Order: sequence, then structure tokens, then C-alpha cells
Amino acid sequence: MIRKNIDTVLKNIEDAAIKSGRKKEDITLVAVTKTVDASRIKEAYDAGLKIYGENRVQEFLQKKDEFEKDVSWHIIGRLQTNKIKYIIDNDIVLLQSLDRMDLALEIQKQCEKKNKDLNVLLEINTAGEDTKAGFDKNNIFEYSEKISQLDRIKVKGLMTVAPFTDDEKYLRGIFKETKDVFDKIKKSNLKNFDLELLSMGMSGDYAWAIEEGANMVRVGSAIFGHRNY
Ligand SMILES: *Cc1c(COP(=O)(O)O)cnc(C)c1O
Repeated sequence: MIRKNIDTVLKNIEDAAIKSGRKKEDITLVAVTKTVDASRIKEAYDAGLKIYGENRVQEFLQKKDEFEKDVSWHIIGRLQTNKIKYIIDNDIVLLQSLDRMDLALEIQKQCEKKNKDLNVLLEINTAGEDTKAGFDKNNIFEYSEKISQLDRIKVKGLMTVAPFTDDEKYLRGIFKETKDVFDKIKKSNLKNFDLELLSMGMSGDYAWAIEEGANMVRVGSAIFGHRNY
């Protein structure tokens, strides 16, 4: 089942990439493994998926030792400052959810102490939803400048979690707007910014996100099935 789901997702990714003038290799699929136990993640591993996204550090720590070193883990959920040490110590490949300035300052401090860098995406709340984390689309430029002064933080791109709706036109608008912000920040050539990754699109909307410019999608339930929460 998982393998079949992955085939479907990869096919959809390829179709969307082609529609937007790219190739399937241009799009990175992050398998979102929250609530999925290690044995089921291994089915995805055997099908060739090696990049996993967890939204809770605790869950990541419980699972990571069951996997070979050839997998990489991304944190995609809100990170509490008291969990930063775990992601630095465990060489998290990418924190996709750098969503606030106080978190950035604390990451800088802890990375300095350990003489490490951290790759991040800035999370942007493009739709301005009260319930969602992320920088506001109007002040993300200002915060980008501040974050560019923090030399331990390597900003690789932007991430957004679109509103929960199946309104295609609205969602495409949100993705397009996020891509515009991405292009604008990329052009500003900030120090410690090397914008390559635009992470947007989940199980319900990854094809639209790719067509609007995403090159990284985070897909959970379309691979592992419905989550019970
Ligand atoms: C859970 C989650 C996903 C995946 O959601 P699905 O709809 O199951 O694909 C993607 N991104 C974030 C930040 C998530 O928390």
C-alpha cells in the first residue's frame, strides 16, 4: 500500500513538474512521518524515500536510531527553544520551521557555543491565519535582514503551510504569493542567505504548489494513510 501510494505521489509530482517547465528531479519529496511508526517508515525507505519530516523533536529522537545513516531528517513543526539542543546535536539537516525571531536568536547562541551551523527555511504565514505560525508576509523582509546578521543560521529558503481548504484558486493564489516573496528575498542577496528551496504543498495540494513554483513538498497522509488526530 505504501509503495503504491508513493508511486502515485511521484507520478503526480512528475506531471506537475513538467507542467511548470521542470523535471521530476527538480522537486524534493519530504515524507512526513509524524505519528507513523518506524516499521511503516521502513516501507517508504525500501521504496527509496530517504528524507523524512517530523514535527515533534521527541518523536524524531525516538525513531532516528532505527534508521541507517543515509536518511535525513527535517523538523517541520513549531520548535520550542528548549529543544534546540537536540536538533543541533543530532545534525538535523534542515529546520523548515524557523518561525520567529526569538527562536533565531536562541539558535544563534547555541550554535555559537557548539561551533555549528544550522540550515533553515523561514516559515511564512502567507495567508495571515491567526492559528498559524510563521513570519508575516509584510514583515518577513525586515526580519530577513535581522536574521542575516546571525552567522550560524544558513537560510536555504522559505516554507509555508497553506490554509486547510480545497479551494484551488485560493490556494494557488497563496502559493503564487509565497513564490513572489521568495523571489524578492532571493534577489536581495542577504548575507548567510542562499535561497534555493521553496517548501510548500501537502497531501491535498502538492500538485498545485509545484505548478506555482514549489521545489519541495511535504507529504504525509497521501503516503502513509489517514492520521488519527
Ligand atoms: C503534517 C504536516 C504535513 C503533511 O500533511 P499531510 O496533509 O498529511 O500531507 C506537512 N507539513 C507540515 C508542517 C505538517 O505538520
